[in-house]
Amino acid sequence: MSAGAQSEAWFSRAQAALPGGVDSPVRAFGAVGGTPIVIQSAKAQTIVDVDGFEYLDFVGSWGPLILGHAHREVVAAIEAAVRRGTSYGAPCPAEIELAEQVVQSYPGIEQVRFVSSGTEAVMSAVRLARGATGRDFIVKFSGCYHGHVDHLLVAAGSGLVTLGEPSSAGVPADFAALTRILPLDDEAALDELFAADGKRIAAVIIEPVPANNGLLIQRSEFLSAVRERCDRHGSLLIFDEVISGFRLGPGGAAAHYGLVPDLATFGKVIGGGMPVGAFAGSRALMRELAPEGSVYQAGTLSGNPVAMTAGLATLGVLREADGWHRLEELGRHLEQVLGEALRESPCRASLARLGSIFWIALFASTPPRAAEAVAPASGEAYASIFHSLLAQGIALAPSAYEVGFLSLAHTTADVDRLGEGLSAALCNVNHGALAND
Ligand code: PLP
Repeated sequence: MSAGAQSEAWFSRAQAALPGGVDSPVRAFGAVGGTPIVIQSAKAQTIVDVDGFEYLDFVGSWGPLILGHAHREVVAAIEAAVRRGTSYGAPCPAEIELAEQVVQSYPGIEQVRFVSSGTEAVMSAVRLARGATGRDFIVKFSGCYHGHVDHLLVAAGSGLVTLGEPSSAGVPADFAALTRILPLDDEAALDELFAADGKRIAAVIIEPVPANNGLLIQRSEFLSAVRERCDRHGSLLIFDEVISGFRLGPGGAAAHYGLVPDLATFGKVIGGGMPVGAFAGSRALMRELAPEGSVYQAGTLSGNPVAMTAGLATLGVLREADGWHRLEELGRHLEQVLGEALRESPCRASLARLGSIFWIALFASTPPRAAEAVAPASGEAYASIFHSLLAQGIALAPSAYEVGFLSLAHTTADVDRLGEGLSAALCNVNHGALAND
């Protein structure tokens, strides 16, 4: 579908004023083609573009909006907070209360520091891990994204256990050389790396629910193996829960898998749609941070009272409304409806789902667990599905490798509508490309 005249006009102005017309690359529709719809407003499960077209939204601002857009109680809390001042640069009750909630909710966590984005949370957690261990190496998994931190914008070189290579211009090769990349779902590669470099590894960072290269749901045995190898070699385990934290449940993926990381990073849901990130750990680790310890970390807007209030209001509604349980039920319904749509289509595709996070795995009869198993040619077929859905008033993420999100604002009827829309979209897709061969 092509964007409306107003979206076209705004995006043309955007291209003059903003690099690529956007402030975050995937918004540019580069992976699906066409002009991005420019959004005027959003409410509950619906977004409205500048031409007045409405879309049933399954992006949810890429994860934060677990209650849906502009939730009444969150908006009221933000309005009240703004009237009390937008930033103090000093401690405030809201940040202390939100920190206490994280501590009470998440396994093994005793202290929290708030920052303003997921990237900042990961960057700070990595520095803390290096400071606390006195080691330099960081291990990450291919297919996991941890924000645009220099040391983690690194791709695997050739071979399974490899030195990192920068995956962005501007990342010095010397930085990337301190990062090791492993495939997910592969205990043998893990062992090989720890045997070679175990004493130099400060931390292993993983999205316990990898959701940035499709949804690569891990075997709990693999995650336990990662925990065990870290313990055995004195390396810290960082769970990047920027997506999964407070979305899968109050204890995130850690509680889901029954594992306790040394450090956890948060973002998205914890900020209720405002710019918030956080990292957290035991008292013994967190005391290494300035002002008590020697690992420096700071932020003008960190613990911002308006953002903290939005996070508190969001978690409050989730608890009062039995939110996580309801999201799991809606997720089960989605799994059934989309699973059926995919089974009945002539295309080879499957559905991955955990809680309220879902992903359509094209060219895969069962959802893959490692990035290397994700079909590289999904893009073109996905673009056709994406545009067909958009023309039907349904918004999925503009990339084959991004997940979808359910919110408490979605209904079973919304999910049914997505199922019908997907069936129609699959009929139009190039069947040769997606055929059940
Ligand atoms: N970590 C994970 C797992 C993410 O998915 C993201 C962003 O999508 C980040 C970190 C970075 O967060 P932000 O975009 O808030 O900087």
